[in-house]
Amino acid sequence: MNGTAGSWASTPAVRRSMVSNRRRDTKPEIAVRKLLHARGFRYRVDYAPDRGHLRNRADIVFTRARVAVFIDGCWWHGCKQHHRAPKANSNYWSSKIARNTERDRYVSEMLRERGWTVLRFWEHQRAAEVADEIAREVSNRSSRNMDTQIVTTHVVSDQK
Ligand SMILES: [Zn+2]
Repeated sequence: MNGTAGSWASTPAVRRSMVSNRRRDTKPEIAVRKLLHARGFRYRVDYAPDRGHLRNRADIVFTRARVAVFIDGCWWHGCKQHHRAPKANSNYWSSKIARNTERDRYVSEMLRERGWTVLRFWEHQRAAEVADEIAREVSNRSSRNMDTQIVTTHVVSDQK
């Protein structure tokens, strides 16, 4: 479509930077983590929420609240606004992005089935908004999980 995007992944330097940026410690993710940390939240980074699926890691994980956060890179996860298919090797890249999207969906579903709250964001979203939404969800879930614990304890003591 537009000329600037055409040769994107075709130069080795660009490809190298795409590959090295795709996993952890991306700038948007660090910004979100800093905001959460400043508000007193503690979390695990690049961690598999479900210990039976160690390869399916989330970017930020709140184990007690059971909230898994993914901050998806616009390029790698096929953001409608920012993903531009490169002209060179376009079949390769489009099927790669399709597989990524498919895996994202699978992981979200797998975690939800196991009782996790899954939050997915795009890296282009404002860090403050992302952090707010995460904070709200973690707080909700933490208090709900505490209720469950109290109820459980109560039931157990009744049975004695
Ligand atoms: Zn985007």
